[in-house]
Order: sequence, then structure tokens, then C-alpha cells
Amino acid sequence: MNLDLHAHSQFSFDGERPMEEMVAAAAARGLSELCFTDHLDFDSPVHHIPDYTARRAEAERLRPLYPGLTISLGAEVSLRDETCAARARETLRVAEADFILGSVHTVDGVDVWSDRYYNGLDKKTAYRRYLEAVAQELPTFPEFHVLAHYDFVAKYAPYPDRSVTLDSAPDAFDLIFRYLLDSGKGLEINTASWQQDRPWGLDILRRYRELGGEFVTVGSDTHGSERVGARIGEALNLARAAGIPYIAAFRKGKPHFYALGK
Ligand SMILES: [Zn+2]
Ligand SMILES: [Zn+2]
Repeated sequence: MNLDLHAHSQFSFDGERPMEEMVAAAAARGLSELCFTDHLDFDSPVHHIPDYTARRAEAERLRPLYPGLTISLGAEVSLRDETCAARARETLRVAEADFILGSVHTVDGVDVWSDRYYNGLDKKTAYRRYLEAVAQELPTFPEFHVLAHYDFVAKYAPYPDRSVTLDSAPDAFDLIFRYLLDSGKGLEINTASWQQDRPWGLDILRRYRELGGEFVTVGSDTHGSERVGARIGEALNLARAAGIPYIAAFRKGKPHFYALGK
């Protein structure tokens, strides 16, 4: 049960390495599944749309070469507003996506990965604004299956301690979790947000479990082959420690559950 459900191939605008190299890395590291969630972005003036036909052909070519590895094809959809969601919905009609991640990468039109977002904001304010934006934007695109990187705001944050805790915005976390759970969706543990730091999020996952969360997905968010499968074991241990019973993978939009055990 070594699944990486968040990876970006060369079909993603920011992908760094060919799908073949990433698949080879996944197989060499003993992964059972690798899902390519290439960016689908309409949240800023420059749109990013993968070539789904070429991507499907490449996955079909690789599958027989790596029979021990499930190669699934997904999308990471940037959420912002109804217009952005309508464009993503239309584009995804031809994607035949197994798995759709919903992501928030901007707040009020500002990229959360840019220094500009943090300018003049203390950590508490920067994190709260992001989490409130997530809570607000999730319902614009009900087609997604799992919320990606709830802690994206920490990934490029300039603070000495970047960790996200439940008390960053407990009310926003509750709104997010209640939306996910009421609509049968799940939460991702994204190992890229930690960068080189120790894993965080146990208190957050415990709250998700307390409200009824039964599964998570885990993903490295890798854009190359080096980090394929990175720190997935730590993410699974975190989910176990929070008492979450299942990890999920998605095929043709349907979840498959694997017991996490003790
Ligand atoms: Zn993302
Ligand atoms: Zn990503």
C-alpha cells in the first residue's frame, strides 16, 4: 500500500520530467500506484490545460511495461470562482480523469506561492486568510474528489516555523471538513508542504476524524522523478496516529479503500 496520488508529469505546464522517467522511479521504489494530477488552471490570466490525448496515449504505452504499478490519470483543478469552475468542468469532459483534486493556489487574485501574498502579513493572518478562501471556494466546483494540500499556504511561507496547526483557524477548518464530509469528499496529506521539516497536521487530522473523516489520500506533489513517493510512509503514519481508518485511491472517479491498520 504505497500510493502516490499527486504527481505532475511533462503534460503539466510545470512538469519537469517525462512520465516514463517518473513511472520508472515509482516502480523502482515499490509503489503500487502513481496518479498524474497535472494542473488544470483557469484561476489566473494564463490558463494551463494538459494535452489529455497525448497523455492518455503515453500512459497506455507505459502500462504494459510496468504491470506491477497502477498508473492512473487525474487532474489538479485550481479553484477560485464559478467562471473558473465552469471552464474546468468543460475541459474535463475529454480528460476521462480517474481522480480530481481541488486546490486553492490564489487568494483574492494573489498567488499564494509568491512573496507578494505574505507581504506585511503575520503568520496567523496569512494562514487564516488562506483557509477562509479554501472554505469559501470549495463549493464552486463540486466535481472534485479530494481537497489537495489544505496547508499550501505554508509551502512557501517566509516564517521560521511554517507549520500549520488547527488553531490557525479552527472555524475555517470546521467549515472545510463539514463541506468535504457532507459531500462525500476527502482530504489529502501532501508531503511537499513540509519541505524538509518534520511532518505536521496531527491535530488537524484528528479534528477531521472527529467530524467523521474516514479516509485520506496521500501525495508527494512531485514535479520530477526524484520525489516520486517521497515521505508517503510518514503521511500514512500520521493518518494512522489520527485514527483515520482508510487510505483511498480513485479509478474512474470511484474510491477504492485500503485499511490503514494500527
Ligand atoms: Zn497545488
Ligand atoms: Zn500539485
